Amino acid sequence: MNTFHCDNCGAQVFFENTVCGSCGWMLGYQPELQSITSFSALETPAAESGAEPGPGRWRSVRPENEGRVFKQCLNYWRENICNWMLDEQETHELCASCRLTRVIPTLDEGNNRVLWSRLETAKRRLLHTLWTLRLQPAPKMEDEQSGLAFEFLQDQPHGERVLTGHADGVITINIAEADPAYREQAREQMAEPYRTLLGHFRHESGHYYFDRLVAGSAWLEPFRQRFGDEREDYGAALQKHYENGPRADWEEQFVSAYASSHPWEDWAETWAHYLHMFDTLETAYACGVQLRPRHAGEQKLVIPAPPTAAGSFDELAREWFALTYVLNSLNRSIGMPDSYPFTLSTPVLGKLRFVHELVSGAAAPDLDEA
Ligand SMILES: [Zn+2]
Ligand SMILES: [Zn+2]
Ligand SMILES: [Zn+2]
Repeated sequence: MNTFHCDNCGAQVFFENTVCGSCGWMLGYQPELQSITSFSALETPAAESGAEPGPGRWRSVRPENEGRVFKQCLNYWRENICNWMLDEQETHELCASCRLTRVIPTLDEGNNRVLWSRLETAKRRLLHTLWTLRLQPAPKMEDEQSGLAFEFLQDQPHGERVLTGHADGVITINIAEADPAYREQAREQMAEPYRTLLGHFRHESGHYYFDRLVAGSAWLEPFRQRFGDEREDYGAALQKHYENGPRADWEEQFVSAYASSHPWEDWAETWAHYLHMFDTLETAYACGVQLRPRHAGEQKLVIPAPPTAAGSFDELAREWFALTYVLNSLNRSIGMPDSYPFTLSTPVLGKLRFVHELVSGAAAPDLDEA
């Protein structure tokens, strides 16, 4: 993620903010600029004029926005769960992120509105990274064949449990995952080092991009060489994983225990991990994080440029290892568990390199002769 500043007063603001805490200007994200922008109302605010609330007419002082008028996403002005903006001329009422959501939970029930808001917030962060990687997914309602849709569903008292997962371009998330108490319990049960909403979005997007980028492409055979044959019975593999636990040597070959259940899950876990590294390195670059070595040969961290898919994977991995030392040291200082409780084995690094090369648009690697 980038760091952002208020266009009006220069204060640091976050990706999720709606108001500048320093000067009070309204903030909104412009996906086309991948940036938070400060806005001032063009017309008398609704409260004063007595008019109905609406998307408003907003202008920005940024030179690149000169002459443009913006409106808030419907889920911004009406629901207060989004902070993305649209050009006033766009026919859509919902922003590029909210248009991807096809089903939302019943909002007048329990804590659902809060859960929905957390889900959308995590989804927007995923989208920011996907856009940086030039992987904008089209909404399924505009492209039935290869588009993406999200469904945020709730367990019904006597119904079937909602399973978080992906099928044919539809990512389903059980909204209970947005409840930290539920998620922590699930994390304990599954013995995961951590479990986050953003991680769910990244993981499920991996399944979607497998269909887009790997299946039926020149990358499929090289994929099978690294990750195994995805035609292996998926249901049986998962059942075996849940009944017997992960294979004993999973740490030598896989980024997580769950990744060892089936090549598809290995792919999705690796993909999620790559996005995790990519976004965090982008943030570290934007914040100017450094690690100064005391001796020659000690890890040092200077990030000269934000990560890009086109950059060197070796460089990205080297920066990442140094950064995780900083991350874990900081967390220990504030009494929190390590923020990066992973070790990456050589085969796992090979798989991450595979994702990196795939998203960089490189040609598929030659198959090993063996
Ligand atoms: Zn400000
Ligand atoms: Zn929106
Ligand atoms: Zn999965």
